[in-house]
Amino acid sequence: MKYVEEFRDPKAANALLAAIERVVGEIGATADAPVRIMEICGGHTHAIFRYGLDRLTPPGLEFIHGPGCPVCVLPMSRIDECVEIAARPDVIFTTFGDAMRVPGTRKSLIQAKAEGADIRMVYSPLDAVDLARRTPDREVVFFGLGFETTTPSTALSIQQAARDGLRNFSVFCNHITVPPPIKALLDDPHMVLDGFVGPGHVSMVIGTTPYEFIARDYGKPLVVAGFEPLDLLHAVLMVLEQIRDGRAEIANQYARVVPRHGNPVSLAAIADVYEPRPSFEWRGLGEIDSSGLKIRDAYREFDAEAKFAVGYGAAHRIVDEPDGCACGAVMSGRIKPTGCAQFGTGCTPERPLGALMVSSEGACAAYWHYRGARNLAAAE
Ligand code: SF4
Repeated sequence: MKYVEEFRDPKAANALLAAIERVVGEIGATADAPVRIMEICGGHTHAIFRYGLDRLTPPGLEFIHGPGCPVCVLPMSRIDECVEIAARPDVIFTTFGDAMRVPGTRKSLIQAKAEGADIRMVYSPLDAVDLARRTPDREVVFFGLGFETTTPSTALSIQQAARDGLRNFSVFCNHITVPPPIKALLDDPHMVLDGFVGPGHVSMVIGTTPYEFIARDYGKPLVVAGFEPLDLLHAVLMVLEQIRDGRAEIANQYARVVPRHGNPVSLAAIADVYEPRPSFEWRGLGEIDSSGLKIRDAYREFDAEAKFAVGYGAAHRIVDEPDGCACGAVMSGRIKPTGCAQFGTGCTPERPLGALMVSSEGACAAYWHYRGARNLAAAE
């Protein structure tokens, strides 16, 4: 397959692995004192485990799994607010399938659907706009969530609804941005990180310049990477070479897709429709300054928070994670998923306690599916 197989070539992978082993040795890192590289994006976490890269690289290199899974970081309070909106008899609540099984304090969206709420899966926010057009007697709400990757498509759906004069379409906006949580992690005195593999899809939209503070203010290297095994190995090697040489730069391994200054059309749509919230709650990580986006007043009639008086404009409350849940510690890289006491016992994909176990980008789901945890549990 063109543009895929060349990024999975075993010979090239072996050459990169040999180079990684050599540079890890030159750094002097060992299994007891490894060099710690965080892959920010949950898509990268899954690629690392799917291709077994964590086992092919030397023990002196440790992958730390970051908070870049938008479904995982959604707090339970926001799921509760989704359920509250969806319970209204006049509402059709639309969402991507990934969010259906994320637990709230009382129920997930799929449980609310089973109890009678009109909740429908869509593949695009424009599907929700189309549904609103076809059902003028119902309020159609789209669950907007995700990082800068999905933020523009939600913005375009709001612009489309405004152009069409739709009065029965709105968005429950949970869009978040990547740089603030990286800053929060770097400000955490307990966090020891040597460098980052930066997200590919997000960077396609925002470019590489928003990461410059990481090298300038914190002296850490970041290399934006693609999602194939050679992309990841190459990016890791680029980070390691910087660490060995005492350099801290923002580099772009994924230049075939990521422009330095991002995608101007997407950035213009984002700037037109949203403004930063003062702060936003992240599951397990708490409130992070300027990390969430809100729909601007110019598009207020499409803001479900304003329309239904829920969320930050109303009585938003912070909800504690369930007892024993270690999602925050996993997302901030303090422990591995298997370090959570609930992993595989109180929390499985069938009966999730935390979102990291059900999201297709969740670190716990990666360990479950690719590390044999599922098979171990089935054998018990
Ligand atoms: S095993 Fe479940 S509760 Fe524990 S960190 Fe993972 S998702 Fe959260």
